[in-house]
This record gives sequence, structure tokens and C-alpha cells, in this order.
Amino acid sequence: MAKRDYYEVLGVEKNATDQQIKAAYKKLAIKYHPDRNPGNKEAEEKFKEAAEAYDVLRDPEKRQRYDQFGPEGVNGMGGFGGGQGFDMNDIFSAFGDIFGNGGFGGGFSGFGGFGGGQQRARKPVFRGRDQRMRVQLDLTEIVNGTTKKFKVKKDVVCEHCKGTGSADGKVETCSTCKGTGYVIRQQRSILGMMQSQSVCSTCNGEGTVIKNKCPYCHGEGIVAGETIEEINFPAGLQEGMVLTLEGKGGAGRHNGVNGDLQIIISEKPHPELVRDGNDLVYNLLLTIPQATLGCQIEVPTVDGKAKLTIEPGTQPGTVLRLRGKGIPAVQGYNRGKKGDELVNVSIYIPQTLTKDQKKAMEEFASSSEFQPNESMKSKIFSKFKAFFD
Ligand SMILES: [Zn+2]
Ligand SMILES: [Zn+2]
Repeated sequence: MAKRDYYEVLGVEKNATDQQIKAAYKKLAIKYHPDRNPGNKEAEEKFKEAAEAYDVLRDPEKRQRYDQFGPEGVNGMGGFGGGQGFDMNDIFSAFGDIFGNGGFGGGFSGFGGFGGGQQRARKPVFRGRDQRMRVQLDLTEIVNGTTKKFKVKKDVVCEHCKGTGSADGKVETCSTCKGTGYVIRQQRSILGMMQSQSVCSTCNGEGTVIKNKCPYCHGEGIVAGETIEEINFPAGLQEGMVLTLEGKGGAGRHNGVNGDLQIIISEKPHPELVRDGNDLVYNLLLTIPQATLGCQIEVPTVDGKAKLTIEPGTQPGTVLRLRGKGIPAVQGYNRGKKGDELVNVSIYIPQTLTKDQKKAMEEFASSSEFQPNESMKSKIFSKFKAFFD
């Protein structure tokens, strides 16, 4: 099924501000929230669709790529499993905070099986925030793979309370929900007695409360901090690829689970080589004598210069292939197999000539052997045809 336009999904104009986008998403998210529409598949789909649209439009970079290239432009950029469909847990973990505290599902994330029925006997495990960072690699690093160390700013476990959030180490059973984490409300309605279950707002579903909160983390068990991460970049990465390092993101509240660290790859352009998939392209400009008489020449590659023999009579448009001088495939059946460097030959035609050069050129032009005959022409053009096929 073709996807609806993300702006249309959220009901905003193409030039909507971030605030307008957020507000539009919030409205839809509340309207189609599973807590309000239990067992309603259509509402669930709408809820997911809105989250997917919001995931792209809230991120200036993704939004720009989406505007420019459409849905294809944001595929493989990470987010929710790289556009492979949304999991309810992902949505709550990423945008849970949009609902604020209290309200739906208490605003915590990673409930461990959201929407799987009404039983919420398991206590929530708080999942830390996912961190994102952009890393620029040059072609040599991409070809060979590399390891780099980075400082990553993220939530870390509060060492004063060891992540418990409690100044004296004590946690007490929540008196509102008696430790179950949820409350059952009975309401009289025209249909009779209605029973609804919701997350306990006193303890946010934890079943426990902290009377004496740790002053350093205000009872959260996490504080802003940073860590040094050594990150291994496999060979063959590409612009826009996302490496997800599980558990390297922010620490979760109250000794919950860590979020992920997502590394967005950006490619530093090479001054002379242009990337085309796993091949590299170099545009070589020969002089008329070089192409006519043949020569030895050096061309740049990602690992230094390579010698290349130009045969006498090399035609412009000839493509010379340096096998294995390209980029290794990072994944797939041919993983590790290197692409080639393609050398595109062009011939420089001088635009100004001295008197003597002009005379020499005229003499050259008058010699009959210089004119290509029909069989030479067809030989040259058939070679190009083979290349374009
Ligand atoms: Zn603390
Ligand atoms: Zn409670």
C-alpha cells in the first residue's frame, strides 16, 4: 500500500513550523491512543502512521530529505527500525514524553509489551533515552574501516543513590495502588457499570514511591553526564547509514535499561574521487599527444597513486578499470568484496594555439591517414555501445 504524504497524515502545511508539527502530532496521538481505543485496529494503524510521519518531520535533516526525495530519501536513516514498521514500544519510547506525565500510560516508556491486553502485573522498566550523533568519515576510513573514540553526552546512573533515586536507599510500597502499579476505576454509565484500569499516577506504575528523594538526581536515579565510547566503523559505510549501538545510549530511570546510541554516517567528499555505489570514479584528462602516442600516467586512488598505461590511440570516453580499488561492500552476499575505480578518459582540446602550433596542426590535418575511415568509426562507436549496454 502506498504511504500517505506525511504532511497530509498530520494535517499540516508543507511550511509548518516545528511547533505546529508537534501540536498536530500530539492531537492525533491522543485521539488514536490505544488506551482510548482498546482493540481498535484502525486507530492503532492511524496512531502508528502519525508516529512515523512525526518521526520524520520533527527531524530537520530527515524532513529536508523527505521534501527533496520523498519517502525513499528517509529510508535506511534509522528511526523506527529503518522504516520497517513501527512497534508500539518504539513509539512510546521515542515520543512518550509528548503526553507528559500522568495521562496516558503515565508517560513512561518501554512498558514491555504495550497493548498486549489489560494485565499489567509486570512493573515497568524505564528505558533510557536514545542518543544520536553524526560522524563524518573520509574515503580512506570508509574503505579500510576505522575505530574512533568519542565523548558522548548522555544520562548516566546517579552515583549518589546508585540509581535508586532514594537518598536513604529506602523505597516504600505505593499506598494508592498497593504496589500493583495500576488502579481500577468503576464508573456508572448509561450502559451500566464500566470498569477501567489505568496506571497509578502516584507511582507512575512502579508500585513503589520514594519519600526521601536523592537531592542529586531529584529521585530520578539518573543525571546528565558523559562517557567515552570507542566505536568501530566497519569498512564500506555510506552517507546516511545508521549504526545502532544497543545499550550505549542514556541510562534508564531507577536502574532501568539503557537506550541505544545511533551513529549517523556522513561522508567527507574526496577532492578527486567521486563515489558511485561501491565504485569510485576518477575523471582523467589527457592531452592530444598523450592519448595519441600513449604514455604512463599516475592516477589517485584511496590508498595512494596507481600507475596506469595509456595505450596509443586511446579514445575519449574510454573507461579504464582499476579492479579492487573501490569500496568494500558493507553487507549482503558480496560483503567485503571491493568495487573498482573507474577512470573516465577525456581529451583536452587546446583552446588557444601559438602561430607555430596552429601551423603544425594544419599540416597534421592535411595528411590523409589522419582521417578516420568508416571501419575505424564503427569500431570506436561499437566500443562505446558495449559500455553503455
Ligand atoms: Zn541520585
Ligand atoms: Zn501506585
